[in-house]
Amino acid sequence: MFRQTKAALQKLRYVSFNGCRNTWRLQSTSAVERASQYQTGQKIHGFTVREVVAVPDLFLTAVKLTHDKTGAQYLHAARDDANNLFSVQLRTTPMDSTGVPHILEHTVLCGSEKYPCRDPFFKMLNRSLSTFMNAFTASDYTMYPFSTQNSKDFQNLLSVYLDAVFFPCLREQDFWQEGWRLENENPTDPNSPLVFKGVVFNEMKGAFSDNERVYAQHLQNKLYPDHTYSVVSGGEPLDIPDLTWKQLKQFHATHYHPSNARFFTYGNLPLEQHLKQIEEEALSKFERIDPNTEVPSQPHWSSPREDHVTCSPDALAPDPARQNTLCMSYLLGDITDTFEGFTLSLLSSLMISGPNAPFYKALIEPKIGTDFSSVVGYDGSTKEASFSIGLQGMAEEDTERVKQIISQTINDIIESGFEEERIEALLHKIEIQMKHQSTNFGLSLASYIASSWNHDGDPVELLQINDSVTKFKQALKDNPCFLQDKVKHYFKENTHRLTLSMSPDDTYLEKQAKAEEEKLQKKIQALSEGDKKDIYEKGLELLSAQSKSQDASCLPALKVSDIEPTIPITPVQISTAGGVPVQFCEQPTNGLVYFRAMCSLNTLPEDLRLYVPLFCSVITKVGCGALDYRQQAQQMELRTGGMSVSTQVIPDSTQLDMYEQGVLLSSSCLERNLPHMFQLWSDTFNNPHLDEVERLRVLVMMSAQELANGISYSGHMYALTRASRHLTPAGDLMETFGGMKQVKFMKRVAEMSDLSQVIRILTRIKKHLLNPDNMRCAVNATPQKMSDTAAQLESFMKDVAQNRKERKPVRSNIIERPLDPLQDSGLSRKLISELNFQPCQMKTFFPLPFPVNFVSECIRTVPFSHQDYASLCILARMMTAKFLHGEIREKGGAYGGGARMGGGLFSFYSYRDPNSMQTLSAFRRGVDWAKSGQFTQQDIDEAKLSVFSAVDSPVSPSDKGMGRFLSGLTDEMKQSHRERLFAVTHKSLVEVAESYLGIGQRTCGVAILGPENKAIKKDPSWIVK
Ligand SMILES: [Zn+2]
Repeated sequence: MFRQTKAALQKLRYVSFNGCRNTWRLQSTSAVERASQYQTGQKIHGFTVREVVAVPDLFLTAVKLTHDKTGAQYLHAARDDANNLFSVQLRTTPMDSTGVPHILEHTVLCGSEKYPCRDPFFKMLNRSLSTFMNAFTASDYTMYPFSTQNSKDFQNLLSVYLDAVFFPCLREQDFWQEGWRLENENPTDPNSPLVFKGVVFNEMKGAFSDNERVYAQHLQNKLYPDHTYSVVSGGEPLDIPDLTWKQLKQFHATHYHPSNARFFTYGNLPLEQHLKQIEEEALSKFERIDPNTEVPSQPHWSSPREDHVTCSPDALAPDPARQNTLCMSYLLGDITDTFEGFTLSLLSSLMISGPNAPFYKALIEPKIGTDFSSVVGYDGSTKEASFSIGLQGMAEEDTERVKQIISQTINDIIESGFEEERIEALLHKIEIQMKHQSTNFGLSLASYIASSWNHDGDPVELLQINDSVTKFKQALKDNPCFLQDKVKHYFKENTHRLTLSMSPDDTYLEKQAKAEEEKLQKKIQALSEGDKKDIYEKGLELLSAQSKSQDASCLPALKVSDIEPTIPITPVQISTAGGVPVQFCEQPTNGLVYFRAMCSLNTLPEDLRLYVPLFCSVITKVGCGALDYRQQAQQMELRTGGMSVSTQVIPDSTQLDMYEQGVLLSSSCLERNLPHMFQLWSDTFNNPHLDEVERLRVLVMMSAQELANGISYSGHMYALTRASRHLTPAGDLMETFGGMKQVKFMKRVAEMSDLSQVIRILTRIKKHLLNPDNMRCAVNATPQKMSDTAAQLESFMKDVAQNRKERKPVRSNIIERPLDPLQDSGLSRKLISELNFQPCQMKTFFPLPFPVNFVSECIRTVPFSHQDYASLCILARMMTAKFLHGEIREKGGAYGGGARMGGGLFSFYSYRDPNSMQTLSAFRRGVDWAKSGQFTQQDIDEAKLSVFSAVDSPVSPSDKGMGRFLSGLTDEMKQSHRERLFAVTHKSLVEVAESYLGIGQRTCGVAILGPENKAIKKDPSWIVK
């Protein structure tokens, strides 16, 4: 339903593990009904209603308004969803690459008139039950969204957001901290060398360590060379030091004005209250201006262009000789033409997605490259959309061949069009996406409408997706060549086309470092002795401001007593189908059925475990039964909402040295397609085409490339996984399935010339895993559909009975846990127990071609059910907010950092961090800080709020009961954990810090991913990979 924006141009303000698992609560239809009462022309709190439109397909009523005095635009989507969302977006169209909109996004969140304390945004994370809080800088707008289920909280957050956006302090010190500054490397030593520092400066250096990001940025800059899209809105690291504080304030005055703003609210809270607060606290204080931020259309080129850029070599790329990227990009029409945008985004899917798409057949299957280029398909994030097609991981000599294939494929499409069934499959996909109750619906809507609305497109029209579907079907009926004509117009005859290639340069990083050094020296040479003294003093001032304990009492806050004391119960029923245990969970799924099966790994020989992730990624993509892989993909699109398999390592809730291992099958479908979905699973069990070697090779190549690309983005996860590897038996398996070990293994498989051995292994794995004897299932569906689903599940079990085989577990120490602890049904989960496991300490370093580090340290503590677990959870949160954030982000200049508790481990991490050893020492000082007990009851209460906002983040109907199904966590166990969280005290926090985290008490692992590191090289206690 939502247009894909492949270019990774949106940046998150911070990294969080809490995520945003939000909800959909079916209650009365009061919010929708209430909203439909509004009349066009009606005046409310300084606004005039322009339009009221019911959108029944999305269960919402849209109310469009404008603010009379300032012209601010407003859209409210009333929907009976308690997870209310607010967002305000400003059109920010920079004309240079100093990163001014991005640095502004950071600095407005550093304190405002009404809330002058430092960093109110981060502080609100601990004073609220928000389900989401963040800020984004896109190429041409900046957005500030939050969501919460609590109405008092909504008002609190709205007040802080409005004040931050419209009345920020923008102190010079904030600009230094968040943007850039020259400072002594050691701020307390005036003789240490001057260096560049600043959060955004480091963040962007980190962001451009990702080659995919580098490519996407160049492509956009060069395809739209005449206005705001030709610059880097996030900031080009070497241009950032050209920005002045004054320019920043000027940019705010012209861009962060109501006349340049679009407000969006979503959910079941009354619109009037929002309007009143926004008018009183912000808009009434402004007069209308002409912001003059429109983006002009990009003048069309009369002939196509070519260009070339370089990047750093990728040490983990599957084939070092093939690291080139080439793609062709086409300028399309204006995104405010809703139907044209809809059509082109569908067209793009037809051309590219899945093994039946012509570009997939022409470019991926001949294995010229490892995958599509990082930017591929329709991109509607700029005023005029673009379409890109190309490859990454290709050899330089294939350049001409790829260009030829692209133009030939376009000709072929114009010639033969698309099969009707593929179009039908795509429309089916839209139907499913509209029906699926997503976990963060408000936020999805906000980002879905943002780009078009930003250029004065009609957001209500965008929401009426079914109208576009109807119009699309009609257009195809009227003109069978409708799509082919579009291809001819937009691709074949389009002279605004850019062919951009990228190749690795061994001296890339060196050149970058040199350019930075030159920039630095130029700045330093311009300084007088007085300037240098000034810099030193300002550095000390900043340090002392950062070290001061901060008074946040001006900020609104919820209280611990605002938290619900009990959790709602999710009833499930446990029964069997064909002898296999099944958990049934009745939910308002809106006509969809969700099916999962957990298959145990206990009988699988251990030397095959490294291959399990590969098995998961290919088993639903190689063809099955009578279907080849193309037909299978088609059927999956036509009949299901997707079928996938993933690895599972589930630590036991009572014992650190026990865990369950398996793979999880997941799928969904419309109720009418249930038999088709089970048929596809039966065919997968009975006859998967694992011996399709050519298909397998394509899939292997793509997986290896995807893993290698993911490291610069998820480096902290890889560091954490490695650090915990030797601390618990589950940790070791997690490293095998999803750590650096797996990345390197897949690289090796991708390099193998002969895959027959791999095929034999995958076939063996299939016999162990897809065995109903080792399986349990879960179904989420509406009450009306439940008995029918049970009957069909029963017949599915008959269909796959031939795969039943009693096999011996490879370990002798298997422990059974009842599936239903309250009622002895005799059904159980089988866990591995390694009570003799000896945790060991290890420090591992992975040198990688990044200019920043990912640092982590994990400490073995206690399992979920242990009485100290809750204190450790609160401690991790409190230490993050009250100590580590200041040390690692504010002082250290890393993008993010903190502590978390999970899987029996207390873990520290940093993200895109210029430091390594210094960060490890910050972790240690965090423990000392905790042991010293220098924190207040207020600090503890804030940490509790923050932990509960994660614990209570709502769960969608499709995922209800899954915690119980996978981990055996019952509502009763969750409730006891909840009570232990409430009961955490100052004393218990100091005690857990002393007994688990202190030197001597702990067993810990450390891992760092990052650039060459002299300190580590010299220290023999490190293992360098
Ligand atoms: Zn940022």
